[in-house]
Amino acid sequence: MPYARKRSHHGRRDIQRAMRTRARKLDADQISDNLRSSEKTAALLNPSNLDVDKPGLGLFYCIQCDRHFPTDKDRESHLASKQHKRSAKRAAEEAHTVAATGLSVGVGVDNTQRSAPSVKASVQTDQMAA
Ligand SMILES: [Zn+2]
Repeated sequence: MPYARKRSHHGRRDIQRAMRTRARKLDADQISDNLRSSEKTAALLNPSNLDVDKPGLGLFYCIQCDRHFPTDKDRESHLASKQHKRSAKRAAEEAHTVAATGLSVGVGVDNTQRSAPSVKASVQTDQMAA
C-alpha cells in the first residue's frame, strides 16, 4: 500500500506557543478602529512615551499587522512584504456586521421600494373581472 501524504500539521510545531496570551494580536475590528480614527493612528505611529518591553521601544509599528519592529529599516522591509500587503488588504475591507449577515440569508428589514406587487395585483383584478 502506498504511503499517503499527511494532510494535517503543516509544519505548525509551536501551537501552544502561538496560543499564548502574550502572542495574542488585535482582532480585525480593533485594527479597523485604529485605522479609521486619525487620533489613534497618530498615537500609535508617534508614541508619546517609550515602552521598553516592545521591540524598538515601540517606535516602529505597523497598524495593519499589529506588529512592532526593532528598527525603521525592518519596518520598511515589512511594509514591502507580501505578508503586510495581505493583512493591509484584509484591514481595508468593510467589516461584517450582524445586520448585513441577516440580510444575506433573508432575515431582517428590507425597505426596498418595488413596483412588481402592484402590477401583479392589477393583473389579478383584471382576471377577476373577466
Ligand atoms: Zn504590516
